[in-house]
Amino acid sequence: MFKHGGRFYISVDLEGIAGVVGEYGKGLGMDTPGYAFAKKQGTREANAAVKALYDAGAGEVWVWDCHCKGYNLDYDLLDKRVKIVMGAGGRERFPLINTGFDGVLFIGYHAYDTPSAVLAHVYSSSTFQYQKINGDEAGEMQIDGAIAGNNGVPVIFVSSDDICVAQARKSFGEIPAVITKTGLAWNSCVSKHPAAVCDEIYTEVKKAAENIESFKPYVIESPFEYEIRYKRIEYAESARLNSYDNKPFERIDAYTVKGYLNKPEDIF
Ligand SMILES: [Zn+2]
Repeated sequence: MFKHGGRFYISVDLEGIAGVVGEYGKGLGMDTPGYAFAKKQGTREANAAVKALYDAGAGEVWVWDCHCKGYNLDYDLLDKRVKIVMGAGGRERFPLINTGFDGVLFIGYHAYDTPSAVLAHVYSSSTFQYQKINGDEAGEMQIDGAIAGNNGVPVIFVSSDDICVAQARKSFGEIPAVITKTGLAWNSCVSKHPAAVCDEIYTEVKKAAENIESFKPYVIESPFEYEIRYKRIEYAESARLNSYDNKPFERIDAYTVKGYLNKPEDIF
């Protein structure tokens, strides 16, 4: 079905999966009560997408375990046909996305800071208030989608809460998606049943794979304006960010700096 079998990259975060709200006042750290379930459900949602891709004729599927420090999923329960990208400390934000993939899938990502969005944040909920690209707010999903897009790889599927899915479609167009839960607050939602979500992911990913020719890479034109607002004044004071011409970012108020970058990779 795909030319050369098709290579796919599934990036799995945990905040956006079914049945997950973190702990009030704490987020979704490894010490929170819902974390053990999140590991299992993240693995199940990834497996549903992996099976759909292989059933549609994929040749190779990678799963990136990208929440927190990069070791969350139950690897012995993952579909044994996958390669697993894991751990932290590498220099690239989106490891080896430049090696020729046909599509990227985002499972369990979260919204950028928005009322009622479950566990919404950008990079770190204790450090940043927002980041903006050319004046519009953007989350990790938009940045990862743009890094993939720079390498010619389109985003072909997303699953998360209702708000994150709406943000994905605003950026990437009307791509196949599954809403796992409806956000009520940062730590509260109405979730679909975890097993029903896996069934829906299988169906929608299969649809995406069967229409692979219809997707276009998401590209942020270069150069772009990049603005980042910190939670504390001293973080903005100590930010050492430079624009593409090596001029330091401008401090536009107590918490916020702004500059110009060539590529989304340069944010890191
Ligand atoms: Zn996460």
